[in-house]
Amino acid sequence: MLVFALFFMSCSKDQITAFQNVNLVPMTDEKIVKNQPVLVKGKRIIQIGLSDEMTIPENSKLIDGSGSYLMPGLADMHMHTRDDWLSPAWPVSPFHLYLANGVTTIRCFGPAGESPNYILIWRDAINKGKLNGPTVITCGSILYGPAKDPQRFVREQKDGGFDFLKIYSFVSKDEFHKAMTTAKQLGIYTAGHIPFSVGLDGVLLEGMNEIAHIEELDFEFIDFDRTRKLGRIEWFRYILHAADQQHKTLFGLDIGDLEDGYGKIISTTVDKLRTANVPVCTTLVVGEGITKKLHETDAFLARPENRYLPQWYIDMFRKGKEKHQLIFKGYEDFASFKYNLERLLLIKLKQAGIPLLLSTDAGTGGMGIVPGFSIHDELRILIENGFSPYEAIAAGTVNASKIIQAMTGTDDFGTIEVGKRADLLLVEENPLDNVAKIKNFRGVMAAGRWYSKAKLQEMIALKK
Ligand SMILES: [Zn+2]
Repeated sequence: MLVFALFFMSCSKDQITAFQNVNLVPMTDEKIVKNQPVLVKGKRIIQIGLSDEMTIPENSKLIDGSGSYLMPGLADMHMHTRDDWLSPAWPVSPFHLYLANGVTTIRCFGPAGESPNYILIWRDAINKGKLNGPTVITCGSILYGPAKDPQRFVREQKDGGFDFLKIYSFVSKDEFHKAMTTAKQLGIYTAGHIPFSVGLDGVLLEGMNEIAHIEELDFEFIDFDRTRKLGRIEWFRYILHAADQQHKTLFGLDIGDLEDGYGKIISTTVDKLRTANVPVCTTLVVGEGITKKLHETDAFLARPENRYLPQWYIDMFRKGKEKHQLIFKGYEDFASFKYNLERLLLIKLKQAGIPLLLSTDAGTGGMGIVPGFSIHDELRILIENGFSPYEAIAAGTVNASKIIQAMTGTDDFGTIEVGKRADLLLVEENPLDNVAKIKNFRGVMAAGRWYSKAKLQEMIALKK
């Protein structure tokens, strides 16, 4: 234990850490490379394996990985930060919850708070080693709509130093066109919801780079008037009402029957995405959570990870005033149907080879999705719906880094290769056999900083 304690926070530029005798899960393809040393200098992987001339340098920090597996750290590719994350409103810093769950990259789809600039300060503090947390990729303010001057808004995101533009459901066709045109001119990556007034065809026509949830595709199955001018909750309630009227007879169907009923529209939707090669964030844990919140209230309240949520969320939930409780009131059966539809879409999108990104929408506290913990639920859901362990892990590692490369120009993580950022999990059992075992790790390295299991447990210990 003393040895590991010494490693914590020790990541000066020249410090070399050597993992010895690990079974490597490089994620470059589906394989294990047995009994390898991996050398890390500062934030980077500098060497894998040893030749006769190369040995582990003296003064290296040694981590014995005998019998363990070294895999890339995971990414939550769609989550949110809040400006009160480091305040007592949260029992534990969500940054620590991420590290303690093996998440070494987070991509924020909207930093909640008065101004988004705090996230840039946190991002830099983590980069400089002044704050413990995963690497942060982030958008700035969300283009919600109605938007007065979309062109200016997009320029501000680019000039502000944010990595991409997030577009939300309520922008009009005209606003969307203006925003997309400016984004292309400026070369800023675009990702978001499918705006209700635009629809999937319009989104693909304008070339939005990425879709923020599989859930967004649900709306393609419902006929509704896209020219309406409605507020946030009203839009959802209006669409739910339309869905209720059009699909009610099918609400009880399981996935197989759903495929019979919706096979044609599913294949049309999937074909459109395949042609455009647009990646999609999975965030299935949201849909699963909604059904649990509506139909298994006690089980939802009994989740052990709830203790890491802000108390205001639990209070709100108990009063029946939580976001999804309000939106789905009277449409509870639709929620189950919707989730089954999302599972079916997940299966079909994977079969079509569409890039899918491991993601959970955690972080705001307002939906009860617990940062870090939710990534293991998302992995489980992917496995339950036909992913192999390798495919599920790839969605949060190698595939995630390729998408970040499309945004920032750098494919920097997600595999264990020389030159990549040292984001690593030292796990007890082969993760390619069972993703549930990823939780059993001996430590996490985030951008070259090593956190032992004991240290992580200390970092997320709750005050009495
Ligand atoms: Zn989100």
